[in-house]
Amino acid sequence: MFQLTEQQKQLQKELRSYVDREILPLAGDLDVSGVFPSDLFRRIGAAGYLDLNFYHQRPGAKYNCLESVIILEELARGLPSLGLSMSPHVQCQNLIALHGADSLKKRVVPGAIRGEQLLGFAISEASGGSDALGIDTTAVFDGDGWVLNGEKCWITNAGAATGYIVAAKSAVSERSRDVSLFYVAADTPGLDDSERAPLIGMNNSPTGTVRLDNCKVPADCLVGRENAAYGLIKVLLNEGRLDMTALAIGTAQSAMECAIRYSSSTGRYGRSLSSYQGISFPVSRMYEKIFVARSTMYHVAALFESQARVSAEVAALKLFASEMCLEVCRSAVQIHGAQGMKLHNRAERCFRDAQMLTISEGSSEVCQIVISGKLYHAEQGGS
Ligand SMILES: Cc1cc2nc3c(=O)[nH]c(=O)nc-3n(C[C@H](O)[C@H](O)[C@H](O)COP(=O)(O)OP(=O)(O)OC[C@H]3O[C@@H](n4cnc5c(N)ncnc54)[C@H](O)[C@@H]3O)c2cc1C
Repeated sequence: MFQLTEQQKQLQKELRSYVDREILPLAGDLDVSGVFPSDLFRRIGAAGYLDLNFYHQRPGAKYNCLESVIILEELARGLPSLGLSMSPHVQCQNLIALHGADSLKKRVVPGAIRGEQLLGFAISEASGGSDALGIDTTAVFDGDGWVLNGEKCWITNAGAATGYIVAAKSAVSERSRDVSLFYVAADTPGLDDSERAPLIGMNNSPTGTVRLDNCKVPADCLVGRENAAYGLIKVLLNEGRLDMTALAIGTAQSAMECAIRYSSSTGRYGRSLSSYQGISFPVSRMYEKIFVARSTMYHVAALFESQARVSAEVAALKLFASEMCLEVCRSAVQIHGAQGMKLHNRAERCFRDAQMLTISEGSSEVCQIVISGKLYHAEQGGS
């Protein structure tokens, strides 16, 4: 049986009241505005909530993996799109801290942890994000730096980020797994991140295109070894799936709280809505599913900390949690009746945000490919 320590329960409580005080009162207006909340992001950094850690442990990080998912879940309960922006930011910051040159670390990592810099992770291209190796972006070493050309789609934090980690293929090798990662500052000449993709939800996490047109970066911007980023990307995809799970659970929790509040404070035909089992039973099912997803998330976070191989486990968890979140949010909207159709109310916002979680960081179909791949590989005698 998995149990949080007293310290972890205290952290959860601290985050819950932080969100009630600092985020929920702003969340509705922020959703209408559609802007990235840079002040809030800086405050979160100043509070230490960006000093997170996932699979590969960054020396000196304030929070371990389990504590990090608690923080992400609780912040997403206030504003899911804030959690969506934090996910690639923290991944990039930790990647540079662990695999970047010392000079690059100094330029980026401290400011990122404090929330003074915002990072984006650019892998997906127009040919289809489900194939993480379907990369046409190129990087060529020209004697004193790397020149990048290509176009990345659906990039979280595009237009708001101060820098991106870009996956590219260097001309040295054409093998499909030979991918390299580069840090590209957003103000590098030739980088254009001005095109935003308007989406149905996650309004405060800008998503857009990052174009690289003869974009030259210094030699120290190669993160990790040339042609050897495939292993890092696999770990980052797993981390991203754990992050999306935390977001799904926080979003579902938020929707359930709205459903409980609305149904217990609203009367129909002389009774509160919650006195009808047709309303209170769906709320019980919400609790059941959130409880199962959260308990499993803690378990998988503990597996991350032990550096276990987790691809199938985290894919199963992300699949369950993101689909569960969509179902819980839909049910919360239903309980609100016509009120649930009002744009920008909290349940409706959660419902729109939830749909994105079934697609980003490995869609539900891709998660099933990962799980079935492992099961059939084991059947054929693999480990
Ligand atoms: C909100 C949001 C934020 C994102 N942020 C980032 C980011 O920061 N960085 C980044 O690099 N990318 C990002 N992405 C892109 C994301 O990773 C891709 O959208 C995702 O991987 C799916 O790729 P695609 O949209 O190109 O769909 P496609 O790969 O074109 O797939 C289309 C559909 O086909 C299904 N499908 C694909 N292959 C198979 C198959 N073999 N079998 C069965 N079904 C299949 C998919 O599940 C999907 O339903 C983001 C996307 C969203 C929605």
